[in-house]
Amino acid sequence: MIGHRTPECLELIGSIHEKLKVVFRTNGRVLINTASGTGLQEAAVRNCSDIRVLNCVNGAFSNRWRKVTESNGKENEVLEVEWGQPIRPQQVVQRLENSDIDAITVVHNETSTGVISPIEEIASAVRSTPRGEEIQILVDSVSAIGGAPLEFDKWDLDVALTSSQKALALPPGLSFCAVSDRALVKANSVRHRGTYFDFIELVKYLERNQTPATPAISLLFALDRQLDHMLAEGMENRTARHVILRDITIGWARSKGFTLFAAGGFESPTVTCINNNLNINVENMNRYLRGRGFIISNGYGPLKEKTFRIAHMGDTTTGDLTQLLDVIDAYLSKSS
Ligand code: PLP
Repeated sequence: MIGHRTPECLELIGSIHEKLKVVFRTNGRVLINTASGTGLQEAAVRNCSDIRVLNCVNGAFSNRWRKVTESNGKENEVLEVEWGQPIRPQQVVQRLENSDIDAITVVHNETSTGVISPIEEIASAVRSTPRGEEIQILVDSVSAIGGAPLEFDKWDLDVALTSSQKALALPPGLSFCAVSDRALVKANSVRHRGTYFDFIELVKYLERNQTPATPAISLLFALDRQLDHMLAEGMENRTARHVILRDITIGWARSKGFTLFAAGGFESPTVTCINNNLNINVENMNRYLRGRGFIISNGYGPLKEKTFRIAHMGDTTTGDLTQLLDVIDAYLSKSS
């Protein structure tokens, strides 16, 4: 182990930071945090709003962000759409009319429903409203970035956050967020930003390749190595691979007679949520899969047994996915 104030650690963080900027497509900064993604949901609302947050809710994790907003004492409004649907730009714009909203939260890829929302279009629609420049666009890209493209600078976002354990294919324990200049100006004027996730302090330290508190250094070593792998593959190639994985999964599901939970055209490239319209016992199937070295996810919360989810993110290859689907096929033919 190395100490977190040693030149070796500063070099490690500096190396990681440059690579994270490529992943997030930003020339600005990407904060490196020892916490999971939920911590950064909290950070984003604490730092970037002191008037009213619009929480866009279309699944379990966007609803978690609403709860995080409320439990931090922030005023909020909720734009709630049916699970399975994306958040659409016009819905957001309508809610901004005649309002004092200063921040919106939106989940890029709802892991609970397998739906990807059009973040670029949402951001562009928000910016073109009369108060567009005053609104902080806060994006949870936990199960997207590293699998689905996110262009932080080009899309003019204010915070984009992710966790290490999803499409970056790392152990859990770290999370990252790109933060815009606009977000920092806002944070400077917001009182009670807290201590651990204070963007102003985090940026001050990051400029010296440090973190205010002790980071999980062993995970940083893993991150540095994994970022090398990701950049060697290339972000465009990574995106293309995830689209192929999505299409294989969708094609397989349809060939078996299953339908998809996600609204057409918004199917996630990292996780496919499949309607259990054939009434299989998902828990039994998963037990069978686990016995053969595989695992999938049951439906989330109220969708348990009504849907099941196949994750195809991170370093998953078409070979990995095909093997999994073959084992599911074996289960289905055995149980039919
Ligand atoms: N947001 C989304 C879209 C997620 O999928 C998850 C976790 O699955 C979270 C937030 C919470 O992230 P973490 O478990 O890293 O706190």
